Amino acid sequence: MLIRKLFSFEGAHVVRNCTSQRCARSIHGHSYKVEIFLECHQLDRGQMVYDFGLLKGDVRELIDAFDHTLVFWQEDDADYIEQCKQHSLRWIGLPVSPSAEQLSRVFFGLIDTLLQQTEMHNGEGNVVLQSVIVHETATGYAQCFREDAGNPQMGLIVPSAITYSHQIINEASGGALTRLSALPSLSREAT
Ligand SMILES: [Zn+2]
Repeated sequence: MLIRKLFSFEGAHVVRNCTSQRCARSIHGHSYKVEIFLECHQLDRGQMVYDFGLLKGDVRELIDAFDHTLVFWQEDDADYIEQCKQHSLRWIGLPVSPSAEQLSRVFFGLIDTLLQQTEMHNGEGNVVLQSVIVHETATGYAQCFREDAGNPQMGLIVPSAITYSHQIINEASGGALTRLSALPSLSREAT
């Protein structure tokens, strides 16, 4: 059985090397929607797959870190990155390009790690993250599965390699972001 939870955030980016010049050369924003799918074949004592309340605080903090944020690829032009940092209080540097595809991989890896750090005490079965969908527009999305998250051809995503501005760190009070930032690798590599 699958259960799904929806989150949203407003974010800005440029997707370098994109075929569309508008996308590749202009800073622009999206109203992102992020869908998280959890899979389990057993119900807990509440006859639910999983009480999302257990995970909600951490995931909300993670998604909120991306809200009203300029997200750039750390391999982008050094001047552009410098200007992003100078003119935006909230910015995130990713080791991969901030396309919807890569954002779905980033969220998969980080949420998967948070899920494994969550203690369950209500007879939950083996609850696993099945996929993450990132909607960039009303008509298009990318869906990341476990094999995509760990696919080296798509680029390695290490939590500690993701950089967050001071403002984001200061506003993320729950501790999930700080815990993730300290991790040299994802807690479970894709199989
Ligand atoms: Zn875009």
